Amino acid sequence: MKTSRRELIKRLDRIFSMYIRLKYSTGGMVRCYTCGRWYPIEQMTVGHFIKRQFSGVRYDERNVKPQCRRCNYFLQGNDVEFERRLKQEYGDHIIDLLREKKGNSLNTAELTTLIAEYSNKLKGIGCSPKAYSNNNESKDAKER
Ligand SMILES: [Zn+2]
Repeated sequence: MKTSRRELIKRLDRIFSMYIRLKYSTGGMVRCYTCGRWYPIEQMTVGHFIKRQFSGVRYDERNVKPQCRRCNYFLQGNDVEFERRLKQEYGDHIIDLLREKKGNSLNTAELTTLIAEYSNKLKGIGCSPKAYSNNNESKDAKER
């Protein structure tokens, strides 16, 4: 049976979220991109500067960073600080660049390619599929 687009997005969200948090982790701890506090990786969420309903930047590593629950949910993304940090990291043009890209949509072939790409990246940093098949990320799946 062909995997539905919805199912692919769900799978990729999980893999991508795990990858982003691992990419920024040190010894199981991850630093929140916007407030700078450290938390255990399993308590960390990922935040999207341009919100995740815009599929063109939903899986753009420049748009998605580890964030603590306080910044991501309570402060609704802590956008002002998020923008300041992005400009610092990539230059002022990054905001326009992400805004231009946000409307692009991903087809099922592109989603499948990204799943393979990020599964490989996870394997490359020593993460087994089991580690990201649990439901730690269910909170991330909450739409804002
Ligand atoms: Zn934070």
